[in-house]
Parts: sequence; structure tokens; C-alpha cells
Amino acid sequence: MKRRGFLQAVALPCAAACAASSDARFTIEARFYEKLPYKKIKCKLCPRECVIDDRERGYCGVRENRGGTYYSLVYARVCAAHPDPIEKKPLFHFLPGSMAFSVATAGCNVNCKFCQNWDISQVRPEQVASNFLPPKDLAALTRQYQCLSIAYTYSEPVVFCEYVLDAAAAGREAGLKSVVISGGHIQQEPLKKLCGRVDAIKIDLKAFSEKYYKEVVNGELKPVLNALATIRKLGTWTEVVYLVVPTLNDSDEEFRGLARWILSELGRDVPLHFSRFHPEYLLKDLPPTPLPTLERAKAICDAEGLDYVYIGNVAPGHPAENTRCPKCRRVVVERAGFTIRALALDGGKCRFCQHAIPGIWGRI
Ligand code: SF4
Repeated sequence: MKRRGFLQAVALPCAAACAASSDARFTIEARFYEKLPYKKIKCKLCPRECVIDDRERGYCGVRENRGGTYYSLVYARVCAAHPDPIEKKPLFHFLPGSMAFSVATAGCNVNCKFCQNWDISQVRPEQVASNFLPPKDLAALTRQYQCLSIAYTYSEPVVFCEYVLDAAAAGREAGLKSVVISGGHIQQEPLKKLCGRVDAIKIDLKAFSEKYYKEVVNGELKPVLNALATIRKLGTWTEVVYLVVPTLNDSDEEFRGLARWILSELGRDVPLHFSRFHPEYLLKDLPPTPLPTLERAKAICDAEGLDYVYIGNVAPGHPAENTRCPKCRRVVVERAGFTIRALALDGGKCRFCQHAIPGIWGRI
């Protein structure tokens, strides 16, 4: 969603609604870094491993070295808050039909040329209006809005990892689940901590080539693939989204390579969503993804043997929004955009043939 809708969307509690008067309450010591000589530090949160001098910040702009100690400047510094359907994340095999209370802070550790939320992801925390929303207040607000989960989303949750960890713990105490919507640029140690705290991690896999990651994302593919493999190995629920950008990452070979990698490294039952690109930010010269391109991507991945391949960001009601049982081919979750039209699952099994459909089920 666009930032202009964020803060108007929910009434934050009184304590949280006051604009920040000081940085102090948003500032806590970072949990993943190493001290170096001469008051330098090395950040160990994401694969960039920024080495930062005293009084300097890392690439993401939200972490600062102060006298040899590294700090996050975005703890509970929420610049976006909104209840969203879980289908919008998209997570299709996770509490279908439920709402996720969605929050973000400023900052990101990559710079995608197509970013839809560049006005919060590509700025420093001081450049965007924010509210103080500590973990327990976030959990209370999530319940107040009758959401079943907290979603860390819109910008890049990796760069506000300390807040995610604490808010997910507070959410769990309040009976809430947590989901992370991330590009997956994260080191293994913080990722393992996240997997222990949250219930699902959706990864935006931007392409299946290092060239695209270098030229369009300013990141790397390899650490994202490693992150996906780890999430899967640790048993945290995951779904993969691939934004198809015309002419840049839409070849048959790339789709086939992606499908084969998922099959061999993650398994056939990981949901894969092909999402439609809309011209935005630094890629305004390209057209939206034609529907036949998305359908071609799905057909290739279906043929390679993936069980749950979806198409998203298209006119509601496309058949590729539905979940089909891979055994009997009947529709077990029928969707139209973010709406669940019908659910034919009993205890996570297909109502027609009893085949188990993977995911975290429980509500329509
Ligand atoms: S999280 Fe930020 S400071 Fe740390 S390595 Fe990544 S970009 Fe650099």
C-alpha cells in the first residue's frame, strides 16, 4: 500500500500517537554486530557486513555507531500501521481469510528500482513521520483490530530485526502469530533467531540471476537462496513471491531454473506466487507485466512439478488465485483477490480426497 494511507489508516493508542520528540526511546543497542579496533564496528545482520566508523551509519541508514557501540535507531519507530488481509502479503497457506496488523519502520538494505514503498524504504528515520509503538502496545493494538497476526512488512523487516524479535514475543504472549515479509537479505544467525520467534516468513525472490540482483536490486541472490533453504530446514512456514518485470526477469529459462531449484532445495509443496509488476520508482519506462507472461511462468513451473503456483496482482477471479489439491485437482481454497469465496479443507486436508495440504490453517 502507499504510504499516504498508512498512518491515517489506524488510530494509534494515545501514548503512541504523539510524534517523537526525541530519538532516545527508539534507540537500542543492536544485537548482531562485532566490535573492531579504533571504535569501528562490523554489522552482522545482513550480508553487506558494513564496517562502520564512529558516528557513521550503515548502508540501510537506520543503524549508527556511537563511540564503538552499534545502535538501531528504529526500535518501535513505526512509520506505517494498517490492518491488511493476509492474502495481500501474499500468504495463501496461512490462516486464510484472517487480517494481519501490518507495521513498518524506515529503511532497507537493498535498493530495488521497482520499489513501491521507496518513500519509507529509501529514507532515514528522521525523514519520515513515525510513532512510538512498543511491542506490548503493538500486540494490544493487533487484538483491538481483531487481527490474528502481526505482519512486519512494507519496508524491510531485517533492518528493524530487534523490534520484530521483541514484538513477536509479545504477540505470542497475547496469542498472536507473527509473519515477516522480507527480501531475505539476512545473515544466518539473526535468521535462525527470527525463525524461532515468528510463524511464517514470506520471501520476495526478485529474480533467479545474480546479474539482476546486481543491476536492479543492488543486492545478491546467493544469500537469499541460503536464507530460504534455512527457513525451510528449520520448519518455519514460507512462501515465495517473484515479481515478474517485463524483459528483465521473464525468460522461460529463468522460470525453469527457479522451479528446478525450488524442487531440489525446498520441495514441491512450497507455494510460489508470480506477481504482476506496475511501473514505479526508477522503472517507470517499462509496461505492466502482461497477463500471458504470468500464465507462461505458472505453466512452466506447473510442468516442472511444483504443486502450488499462483498468479497475483491481476484482476480478481483469475483461476490461478485458487489452491487446488495436487492429488484430486479439486479447488480447496477459492479466492477472488483478497477474499476467500470457499474453503474445502478439514483439519488441513482436502475435503474430497483427504490429501494433506501444507500450511497453517485455521480460519475462514
Ligand atoms: S543491516 Fe544495515 S548496517 Fe547492517 S550490514 Fe545490512 S545494510 Fe549494513
